[in-house]
Amino acid sequence: MQDENTPTSTQQTDYTLRPEYLHEFIGQDKVKEQLEIAIGAAKLRGEVLGHVLLVGPPGLGKTTLAKIIANEMGAQFNSTIGPNLERLNMASHLTNLAFKDVLFIDEIHRTRNEVQEYLYPAMEDYKLELTIGQGPSASMVSVPLQRFTLIGATTREGLLTGPFRDRFGHRVRIDYYTPEELRIIIHQNAKQLNIQIDEESEWELANRSRGTPRIAKRLLQRVWDFATFKATGVIDLDIVRIALEFFGVDQLGLDRRDRLYLQTLIQTFSGRAGLRALSVALSEDERTLEDVYEPFLVQIGFITLTKQGRVAMKPAYDHLELTYDEDTQRKLF
Ligand code: ADP
Repeated sequence: MQDENTPTSTQQTDYTLRPEYLHEFIGQDKVKEQLEIAIGAAKLRGEVLGHVLLVGPPGLGKTTLAKIIANEMGAQFNSTIGPNLERLNMASHLTNLAFKDVLFIDEIHRTRNEVQEYLYPAMEDYKLELTIGQGPSASMVSVPLQRFTLIGATTREGLLTGPFRDRFGHRVRIDYYTPEELRIIIHQNAKQLNIQIDEESEWELANRSRGTPRIAKRLLQRVWDFATFKATGVIDLDIVRIALEFFGVDQLGLDRRDRLYLQTLIQTFSGRAGLRALSVALSEDERTLEDVYEPFLVQIGFITLTKQGRVAMKPAYDHLELTYDEDTQRKLF
C-alpha cells in the first residue's frame, strides 16, 4: 500500500539541499537549543559530544540533524542502518572512526541484540571487546577505540532495551511540525528550486503535509510537476487543489492508503482491530502500519492504541462521513 507519498525511514530522493547547520534547520526550537548547548559545551571543553538518540516518526529530520551535529562538531559523518549490522561490520565501523567522528545508526531499534551488546563497551569505555577462539581456549581482547559520538535514530524508542537507551547521554524527541514551520520549509525549497508559488498555496501545501517536512517537500515537487505539465508551471491555489485532488490527498493530508486503513478498521472490523488483523486485511506489514501510518492518525485523534487493539475515534468517522454509534463505541473500551 506504499507509494511515493509515504514517508518511510529509508532514504528517498532529496530534491533540494538539506540544512547543514543548526541555524538553517527550521522549527524544533527546543531540540535546537538542547543540541546547541550540548555541542557548544563539548567544543569549549575540546571533548567529544556524548551519544545522541534521536526519536520521532519518519521524515521529521533525524538524519538531517545527525549530519548537522557532525558539521557543527567539525567531525566526519559515517552512517549505517541498524538491521544491516553484524558483529564483524560493526567492529570495522568502530575501528575506522577518528576522534570526534559521528557514527549514525538509522533504525537503531532494529539492531540485533548481539550487536547492541558489542556496542555497550564501545559507547561507555570506547573499547571493542573481541572474543578470540572458541570454547575453553577462547580469550577476550580489548581494543581501544577513538572517542566518538554515536547517533542513533529511531521511530520506536520503546523497542530499545533499558541498558542500551541509558547509554545515550542526550535523548532528543522530534515532534510533528506546525503548518507555519512547514510553510517556511516549502517557501525555502521553492526558492532553491526556482518554483513560482504564492503564499496561500504554500499554506495549503503546509496544511496538507501531515506535519512532516519530507511530505511537504514531496508534495511541492509533485504539484510543481503537475503545474508544469498541465498548466504554465506557476503554482497557485487552484492548481494546488486540483493537483492534490488528483493525487488523492485530502484536506488533512491523508492519502488513499490512510483512508483505506480507517475504512477497514471501521467497516471491516467495526471500529476495533488488532495490528495483525489489520496488516493482513491491508496487505501491509505490521511495522509499516506502526511506524508510518499510525503515529499521525494517533496525533490527530483519529485512532487510539489500546491493549485490545486499534480503536477508531469519532473524528475518523466524521472525516469519512460514516455514522458513529456511541453505544457500540463505549463497548470497545
Ligand atoms: P528522517 O531521518 O527523520 O526520516 P530526514 O532527515 O531524512 O528525516 O528528513 C526528510 C527531509 O525533510 C529531508 O529532505 C530534509 O532535508 C527535510 N527536513 C527535515 N527537517 C527539516 C527542517 N527542520 N528544515 C528543513 N528541512 C527539513
